[in-house]
Amino acid sequence: MNHPQENQASSRQLAVGDVLFSEGDRADCAYIIEDGTLEISTVSEGQRVVITELGAGEIVGEMGVIDSAPRTATATAISATRLMVVTRNQLTERIAQADPILKLLVKILLDRYRSGLNTVKGDASLASPQDELISEDVVGEYVRHGIDKIRLEAELKDALAQGQLQVNYQPLLDCATRKVAGFEALTRWHHPARGAISPGLFITLAEETSLIVPVGLYVFETACAQLQQFQQREGYGPGSLFMSINVSARQIADPDFIVQAASRADRFGLNRADIKLEITESLAVDMQATDVWIDRAHELGFQVSLDDFGTGYSSLATLYQLDVDYAKIDQAFVRPLETEPRAKELLRGIVALMRALRLKVVVEGIEEAAELDYISELGCHLAQGFLIGKSLPADDAAALLDDPSRLDSLKI
Ligand code: C2E
Ligand code: CA
Ligand code: CA
Repeated sequence: MNHPQENQASSRQLAVGDVLFSEGDRADCAYIIEDGTLEISTVSEGQRVVITELGAGEIVGEMGVIDSAPRTATATAISATRLMVVTRNQLTERIAQADPILKLLVKILLDRYRSGLNTVKGDASLASPQDELISEDVVGEYVRHGIDKIRLEAELKDALAQGQLQVNYQPLLDCATRKVAGFEALTRWHHPARGAISPGLFITLAEETSLIVPVGLYVFETACAQLQQFQQREGYGPGSLFMSINVSARQIADPDFIVQAASRADRFGLNRADIKLEITESLAVDMQATDVWIDRAHELGFQVSLDDFGTGYSSLATLYQLDVDYAKIDQAFVRPLETEPRAKELLRGIVALMRALRLKVVVEGIEEAAELDYISELGCHLAQGFLIGKSLPADDAAALLDDPSRLDSLKI
C-alpha cells in the first residue's frame, strides 16, 4: 500500500518515479513537501492528465484525510522528494478547534471540489464522501451555530445604532474613607427578543470581529458623558470621582483608539487622569506592544489598570513588565477567604507585593463586610463588589452619590 498508517514514520523519502499514493487509495494522512516536486495527475477518458505540480512548503493529500474519501488523484515524485507526514489526528484536531464558520467553509469547499471533480470525471461516487468529522449530522450544527453567530453579529450592529446598548456603573469604594471613589462602566445589551445578553457573550463576539471598535468607542463616550454628569453633582468635582473603562486587546491594537479616547474625554471637559483604562492580559497582544500602548496612554494623561489579576494569562512577571498604575485582584482570590486560611495568606502576600511595586491595589468581588474589612487591613486602596453595589443604571448610580448614607445601611 502506498499510504502510511497513523503510527508510521513521520517522514518519507521518494526517488524519481516513486508513487506516493494512487487514485482510489484509502487516505490516512497528508504530507508537507519539504524538498522536491510531486506531479499530481488523474485519469480522464482513459488519458492521464497532469493537474498540477507541487513543490517545497506545499501540502498534498489533505482532502481525503479531512473527508475520508479515497484519493482522487495520483501523486508521483518527479524529483527526489522529502515529505513530512501529517496524520489524520493532527488535521482533525485543528479543524475541531476551529471557529464554526471556518468548519462550514472547509465543508463547503470540499463539497464543491468533489462535485466539480465528479462532473469532470462523470463518476458519482466521488460526490458523497463519508466522514466522521464533517459529516452531514454535524454540519447541521455548524450551520446553526455559524449562522446564529452571524445573525447575532448583525443584530449587535443594529443594537449599537438603535441605542440598545446600555452602560451601567458599578461603584468602587475607597477602603480608607469608605466613600464612593468612582465607577466601572459595564455594558449591557437589552435585546428586544432575547432579553438581556451578558457582556461575556456579546463583548467576546464584538472582540472576534471589528465591531469592538465602534462598540468600544460608544461605551467610552457614554461613560465620559456620565462622568461629567456625576462630577457636576453637589460635593463632587474633577479629581473627586473616576471612571474605569474596559479596553479590549483589539482596541489596544488599534492605534486610533487612544487618540479618539483622548478627544472624547476633552469634549466633555474631563480631567483625563480621572479615567482609568482597564486592560486584561491576553494572548491576543504581545507584552511589548501593550507596554508601548501604556506609555502612550500615560503621555495622554490616562491612568491604566491591570484587570483580572491572577486569572487567565496573567503572571507575576506582568507586574514589572507592564507599567500600570492600578492592579485589580480577581474575585477568585476573595471567594475562598472565609473557608481557606491559606487563601488569606495568599492575598496578603499578593497585596504586599503590589504595594512594594508602588501599585494601587483594587480588589474585585467583595460580597461580605468581613472581606472588605480584611482587604482594608491589608492596605488595599479600592474595593468593588456586590456588597458596595451591583452595576447600576446611571440614575441609580447618581442617587448613590447624592445620598452616601445608603452605604451606611449596608453596614459599610
Ligand atoms: P470585569 O471587567 O472583570 O467586570 C467585573 C464583572 O464582575 C462584572 O460582570 C460585574 O458585574 C461582576 N461583579 C462585580 N462585583 C461582583 C461580585 O461581588 N460578585 C460577583 N459574583 N460578580 C461581581 P459583567 O458586568 O457581567 O461583565 C463581565 C465582563 O465583561 C467584564 O468583566 C468585562 O471583562 C467585560 N465587559 C463588560 N462591559 C465591557 C465593555 O464595555 N467593554 C469591554 N471591553 N469589556 C466589557
Ligand atoms: Ca474590568
Ligand atoms: Ca475584573
